[in-house]
Amino acid sequence: MRHEVVIAGAGPGGVATAVAILRADPSLRGRVLLCDRARFPRPKPCGGGLTGHVDEALAALGLELTVPSFPSPRAIVRYGAMAREVGLARPVNVVRREEFDASLVAQARDLGAEVRESTAITDFTVEEGCVRVALPSGAIETRILVGADGAGSLVRKRLVGHRSGTDGPRPIRFFRAELPARGAATDAMLYDFTPMVDGLRGYLWVFPVPGDRINVGLMHSPQVSRTGAELATLCRARLLDHGIQLGAAPLRGWPAWGYHPASPVAGPRLCTVGDAAGIDGLTGEGIAVALEHGVLAGAAIANALATGDFSFSGYRKALRRATVGRELALDRWLAKLLYGPGYRRWLSLVLCDPEVLDLYAARVSGTLVLADRKLTLVAALLRHLAASSSRQRSLRDSARPLSLPSGCGRIPCTNSGCCPSARR
Ligand SMILES: Cc1cc2nc3c(=O)[nH]c(=O)nc-3n(C[C@H](O)[C@H](O)[C@H](O)COP(=O)(O)OP(=O)(O)OC[C@H]3O[C@@H](n4cnc5c(N)ncnc54)[C@H](O)[C@@H]3O)c2cc1C
Repeated sequence: MRHEVVIAGAGPGGVATAVAILRADPSLRGRVLLCDRARFPRPKPCGGGLTGHVDEALAALGLELTVPSFPSPRAIVRYGAMAREVGLARPVNVVRREEFDASLVAQARDLGAEVRESTAITDFTVEEGCVRVALPSGAIETRILVGADGAGSLVRKRLVGHRSGTDGPRPIRFFRAELPARGAATDAMLYDFTPMVDGLRGYLWVFPVPGDRINVGLMHSPQVSRTGAELATLCRARLLDHGIQLGAAPLRGWPAWGYHPASPVAGPRLCTVGDAAGIDGLTGEGIAVALEHGVLAGAAIANALATGDFSFSGYRKALRRATVGRELALDRWLAKLLYGPGYRRWLSLVLCDPEVLDLYAARVSGTLVLADRKLTLVAALLRHLAASSSRQRSLRDSARPLSLPSGCGRIPCTNSGCCPSARR
């Protein structure tokens, strides 16, 4: 068998898996095949925020950030007239995904992965002793097939079956555009929850990117059903609050499946990483997740090749128990609160309790594992419930539906009267 491992998709998840396998066993040089249907650099809709444990994951893999990035040292969380600014202990680098992903592919190639671009995996069958993978040039055999093929993953579909998502039939939705800053850029990452008053269950983002440009978009959790047209309209209209005009170009939406600890992520001779295994249901982030999954998949694959046990029976538990799985499980739970019917209560916790915002900021900048601080979070929740009614009143007053005049329209907002703990 020429290729011990075939990886569908050469995004961060696929590259991380290939590199982790080659680091574990350099004798596999040339025998790990990364196939991608695209040619790099390829377009990739993304906010480009290298949040969470990206630095650690890149270091663990011996990969480097070699492309231009915009280091953002602070974040602003906003809801209507209320805004909180928080410093990031470690600046979050914002990159252009087409550049970042191409640089990772080049590094994987240098380390001995065979990369075939413009090569889509169209089908596969798990057989006795191998997986038969259909490529445009004909079928090849391999011992293991990795699904790193993103949100529409072929491997995921086979593992999850007819259910498209374990949490329900609807995915998380994203809309995104990149445009010249035209004075709208600051060095802060803006997370604006104001559109929740219009029915969004998520946030609008404005991130700075290199070259005096901004990356803007919207994430919507599937807890409430909204059409693509509704979300696109909302995105355009609420960006105007920030003086950002998207123009007439149509806004395209992208789906992604949130991580669920019980969702199948592996089967005999198969495993998934990154978006194919599920992303963060609270923030929609997945670059760090994909890299961290790759590290874990690489270890599981190296073990399978060494022992001959290709069942991957412990893989789901390994993902779940690792830092990445614990953070995703916690964020899934937080998403149920924040994007559920009582969203004002939990949003006011984020906006009014400086400790909670600091904790989450540290999780975003990757300097803390939030899952290790659950007790602190629960204490904050209890503290908050006691003070809840007055805080929720402040929040109710601070955002207006789109048809009414909205907020102060500027960031950061200095309307701290409604919350004495506001920082400027
Ligand atoms: C609009 C938007 C904004 C986002 N913003 C952020 C952010 O700011 N920060 C963050 O951390 N995350 C963000 N995410 C999530 C992040 O983009 C993904 O989680 C991340 O790209 C996952 O990496 P991956 O390698 O699993 O998948 P991908 O990066 O999607 O790579 C999958 C690869 O598989 C290839 N492929 C697909 N099917 C096949 C096939 N059949 N055969 C061969 N190749 C195939 C594709 O061409 C692609 O190159 C955002 C997502 C969206 C949609």
